[in-house]
Amino acid sequence: MNGRLICVSNRTGTTKAPSGGLAVAVSAALRQRGGIWFGWNGQIAEEGASAGEPDITHEENVEIIAGALTRQEYENYYLGFSNSVLWPVCHHRLDHVSFRRDYVDEYRRVNRRFAHQLGPRLKEGDLVWVHDYHLMPLGAELRAQRLEGLRMGFFLHVPFPPPDTLMVVPDHQWLVRSLFSYDLLGFQTQGDCMNFLHYVLEQAGGEMVGDSRVKAFGRELEVRAFPIGIDVGAFREMTRTAEARRTIRRMRQRNLGRAQIIGVDRLDYSKGLPERYRAFQKLLEQYPETQGRVVLMQIAQPTREAVEAYSDLRQELEWLSGAINGAFGDFEWTPIRSIHRSVPRSTLAALFAASRIGLVTPLRDGMNLVAKEYVAAQDPEDPGVLILSRFAGAAEMMTSALLVNPYNEEEMANALQTALQMSQDERVERHRDLMRVNEETDVAKWRASFLAVLEVVSQS
Ligand code: ADP
Repeated sequence: MNGRLICVSNRTGTTKAPSGGLAVAVSAALRQRGGIWFGWNGQIAEEGASAGEPDITHEENVEIIAGALTRQEYENYYLGFSNSVLWPVCHHRLDHVSFRRDYVDEYRRVNRRFAHQLGPRLKEGDLVWVHDYHLMPLGAELRAQRLEGLRMGFFLHVPFPPPDTLMVVPDHQWLVRSLFSYDLLGFQTQGDCMNFLHYVLEQAGGEMVGDSRVKAFGRELEVRAFPIGIDVGAFREMTRTAEARRTIRRMRQRNLGRAQIIGVDRLDYSKGLPERYRAFQKLLEQYPETQGRVVLMQIAQPTREAVEAYSDLRQELEWLSGAINGAFGDFEWTPIRSIHRSVPRSTLAALFAASRIGLVTPLRDGMNLVAKEYVAAQDPEDPGVLILSRFAGAAEMMTSALLVNPYNEEEMANALQTALQMSQDERVERHRDLMRVNEETDVAKWRASFLAVLEVVSQS
């Protein structure tokens, strides 16, 4: 293992107490090898001000280089091209795409600026690992500086759309050509790899030159699936502390023997939340014996509220839960309880452990770590049931969940009823399979396997 690791992601954090899937994943790898973590610090410079030079902090063998975005960059690169074009396109929500030329111009400029700030700090032998849809052209901008002896890999955390969907983005060809500056491309699932390869073969005149190697635009690269997971041991431990046990007991008592169904998501239109609420309503209607016996607890933390689609969604959900509670609830029972904020991870772990059903029904999702966290938090001898959308990346391997079509509310209502009635033996068996997937995709294995391939991949 030689060469420093250079991680580039939209947001940086701290390697000491990282929070969030990506931060946990990269910070352990950075600590192991030493290197640089480069990205946005989450700040926006004052109106009219430039972004300035990034700040550098040292955490042992890791340099964290993080700077602000200008107001214009925030609006056009972050909210604009990244979150109003690429995010909805990758999640099949073409109704939410709003494209403007300013957006893509700024996206290109920010990636170039980052490359100019990072490039001079790189050394021969460094491994560069770029993350996610905000930074697709970063590799091409670094190569343009003619830096010698760099291996560069890119991992896309969100789904890669089928060719027809990607072609909604006017600059689709430029985006895909930019990806050919990397030596290794990692996706969450085999399905994502296939979508990418279809595009390259059908739209870019590319050809396969090995099982997982493709050539186009005069360059070859390796394309593989690396399904991301969670830190299974750490998550399981969180449910075993004395305090967690007390919290779990308290939650159960508060539910008075009612079965709790848990949903935990960012408040995002890709997560299928209105459909989920309506499926729960269908359960109450079609199986009246469930009335008074089940509670849907939904934790939905608002994000990106500056994008209109997100504030509209919050209103829709508040209206919907109010309507369902008004129609079905009584003095002793509130069918849907929703909390619109972030919750500490230890509380989440206890909530998962205290819930009979994990309801994870995104309309489309790169992987979905909540599904894996729910499974890790269960008692193997008396586990709850995971209901999982077929359109989450996690469904490719977690086939022992109850898989559902999140657009089909009736099917979801039936799955809820099946889960409520499932025998302990069947629950134990399904949980065992799902835990196996959790272990196979543990985040430590994920990052080690990506880096192991990046280290040996041949460079064209
Ligand atoms: P996404 O990356 O699209 O948000 P994932 O399911 O892959 O979806 O990852 C979400 C992560 O954020 C999980 O680790 C989950 O526990 C956490 N999370 C989601 N909602 C909340 C919340 N309201 N409070 C705290 N953590 C949350």
